[in-house]
Amino acid sequence: MFADLHLHSRYSDGTYEPGQLVAEARRHGLGVIALTDHDTVEGCAPAAAACAAAGLEFVPGTELTAEKDGHELHILGYYIDVEHQPLLAEIRRFQAVRQDRIREIVARLNRLQVPLQAEEVFALANCRAPGRPHVARALVRAGLCGTLDEAFERFLKQNRPAWVPKFKMSAARAIELVHQAGGVAVMAHPGLNHSDELIPEMVGAGLDGLECFHTKHSTAMAEHYLELADQYHLLVTGGSDCHGLSKGRPLIGTIRLHYEHVVALRQRAVQRRAAAGLPPPPRPT
Ligand code: AMP
Ligand code: FE
Ligand code: FE
Ligand code: ZN
Repeated sequence: MFADLHLHSRYSDGTYEPGQLVAEARRHGLGVIALTDHDTVEGCAPAAAACAAAGLEFVPGTELTAEKDGHELHILGYYIDVEHQPLLAEIRRFQAVRQDRIREIVARLNRLQVPLQAEEVFALANCRAPGRPHVARALVRAGLCGTLDEAFERFLKQNRPAWVPKFKMSAARAIELVHQAGGVAVMAHPGLNHSDELIPEMVGAGLDGLECFHTKHSTAMAEHYLELADQYHLLVTGGSDCHGLSKGRPLIGTIRLHYEHVVALRQRAVQRRAAAGLPPPPRPT
């Protein structure tokens, strides 16, 4: 049995409904999926229901935007209690920051004589965690850019005229938040962060695992992170980081993580849940 533990739905910047993701997962012969939308857990309930109906095992998750020493890092939280009030309160704060950022990006576009409105972006995003991909889609839909790439290249990329930095929590805080919600904290796509030197300190802060397998990791990178995981006694995870149709071809199916890693992840979650005073995650069916 194989898993994909990194998927985005339309509750963040993916295009698929959770149910569509589950159907795609089934079509690709996956037995386990995790939903890891950016800074939200809203899609987890519908994804869990769709998985139960389709006979797939579901791992609730999120991908928290964080930073350490000037590097943007994404912390995956697995088996979190998606009804944990302190986690939800913190997530709501980050969602408000994301919404303010959209307004600021649009204000900058307007100063550049690009007549987009924030409401158009919010209507298109239709979720609580809007981001730059939604602005790009709104620009294309309004005929103000030809392609999503053009939108990023002309306006939205770092240091482009409508770029607005994103407020991020510290990586240590993200790890703590995941643990408080009874979850397991994993560093997403370490090969894209160019910050291996931060890993020892993050291990000190309680990091549980490394996403060794990722669509954008070369075989050499995967091997490198497998070695680091071994060295620091970290769990190994992997996922496609599929965003549906928003970044070209859907990536689901490109990463097939062995089930043994899911078992180890769940075992750690049982410990994290107990330490947080929470009941264990639901048994896989
Ligand atoms: P945000 O959370 O608003 O900073 O947006 C980050 C999202 O934008 C991530 O899912 C990235 O993969 C996506 N993204 C960043 N740069 C580009 C780009 N040049 N083209 C398409 N998507 C991008
Ligand atoms: Fe994304
Ligand atoms: Fe990420
Ligand atoms: Zn992601």
